[in-house]
Amino acid sequence: MKKTKNLNIASRIAIATLSSIATSIIMITVVVLVFRSLLPDIYGIARVESNSYSLLNQMQWAQTISSINRELTDNTSDEAKQKDLRGITRPIDELGSKIYITKDGELFYSNTDKSAIDAELHELAPNLKDDNIILFGENGLVVQSHTDSDNGSYMINITNTGYTVADSSMQSTLKSFKAFFTGRSGFIIFMALFIILISNLIMSVIASRTITAPIKKLSDGANEIAGGNLDYHIDYDSTNEIGTTVKSINDMTEKLKNLMQTKEEIEQSRKEMTAGIAHDLRTPLTSIKGYVEGLMDGIANTPEKQERYLNTIYSSAKDMENLLDELLTLSRFEEGKIKLEQIRIDIVQFLREYLNERPQDNRAVITFTPPSYKGSLDVMLDPNRFSRVLNNIISNAIKYSSTARKPRIDISLEVYDKSVIIALKDNGIGISDENLKHIFESFYRADQARTRVQDGSGLGLAVCKEIVELHNGHIWATSKEGSGTTMMISLQRYNGEDTK
Ligand code: ATP
Ligand code: MG
Repeated sequence: MKKTKNLNIASRIAIATLSSIATSIIMITVVVLVFRSLLPDIYGIARVESNSYSLLNQMQWAQTISSINRELTDNTSDEAKQKDLRGITRPIDELGSKIYITKDGELFYSNTDKSAIDAELHELAPNLKDDNIILFGENGLVVQSHTDSDNGSYMINITNTGYTVADSSMQSTLKSFKAFFTGRSGFIIFMALFIILISNLIMSVIASRTITAPIKKLSDGANEIAGGNLDYHIDYDSTNEIGTTVKSINDMTEKLKNLMQTKEEIEQSRKEMTAGIAHDLRTPLTSIKGYVEGLMDGIANTPEKQERYLNTIYSSAKDMENLLDELLTLSRFEEGKIKLEQIRIDIVQFLREYLNERPQDNRAVITFTPPSYKGSLDVMLDPNRFSRVLNNIISNAIKYSSTARKPRIDISLEVYDKSVIIALKDNGIGISDENLKHIFESFYRADQARTRVQDGSGLGLAVCKEIVELHNGHIWATSKEGSGTTMMISLQRYNGEDTK
């Protein structure tokens, strides 16, 4: 089943044509064989049936003479031949024929005496030569036939004065043919033609079905897809030409679908980003506007009040500046415009220095546990940018800390053959599984309502990801809601080659 399904179209057509030709040849052969073996006996060709001339009668005589010749040249005894000859010649004998057969000049078989047949021969064919002939005459019939074989030289003479060609009209010929075709032979010919016709018909129906059915599937599918149904899958599994076309259309549809989805996602995140920027710029702007109005209207009527107003305006402006800074950085990263300034440095040494140089911050406890690994753990690092990654992560840990406990960040290192993983574990509020998937996207904040605007705009981790990936590293997080988050950064260990 599978094999025939994968047949290519050219082979299908070839097979269909060949099989219909083969069927015809087989049928014709069968018919010819049947005719050959049955015709002489069944249709009376071996048996002379009348004493008047017709085409059939001519065939009957020829067949009888050849049967006699065959008998004479057979490898049997003379007695057996004579016995068989009696049977073969019975029909012509019954129609009054005189038969006289000699072997090497001696009488071999006859139903008459020599003088009687000689007289008829003389009368019917006075000028007869020493020839092989069958003479169908108006007043009688003469047969003369010579046969040489290993066992002797035979001469057959037959005469029949009762024979006539008088009614050798077209009509009798037609009559015998009509009998031939309306008889059993005609039926067999008709059946043979009918079977050939039907089998060819069936073959061509099968061939066209196996070719047109898959083509129809293909065109229906193509129409469906062209009509915009990208979920449509054409169901035809084969390796032939149609099968491979179907496969590429299915693949193409799948790709198109993915592309559309990605496009929609990009579109969606762009919308969200625009909304995010608008929102985050609007908040400090509204506050600036409010306080400026306050100043202009003279509501801030004491120097203290005025200073407080100005401070708020300043810090709102600073928030806006920070946001725009982050946005700018992110877009420069995304455009690939930022180049790292990497140096080869031991990561343990770098982390120690980073923590020492960090401005004192009593809001959180930060610990660092160096690995037990003894050798150096060199990596290629841009210290400034990498510090920024750590700053972001630590500030998140503080921002999203639980009110129930003092924020704590435990930094540790896992050492592998080719890489190191920096883990920064906090004891904050944690992130739900759903949010965890998105925190590295720009403008994504678990607190979607942006109720705590001062917390940030959701750009920090997106920037971290860009920086880490520029270092050929990875950043990811694990978290448990209510108990804390661990941020992990993997970096390749320096292996003597510049990994820039
Ligand atoms: P920005 O960093 O730009 O000031 P942000 O802190 O909101 O703003 P990200 O640092 O990108 O943005 O973090 C994205 C979101 O992931 C945060 O809004 C917060 O919901 C969640 N998140 C990040 N770090 C933590 C953490 N340590 N614990 C709990 N939630 C976190
Ligand atoms: Mg942040």
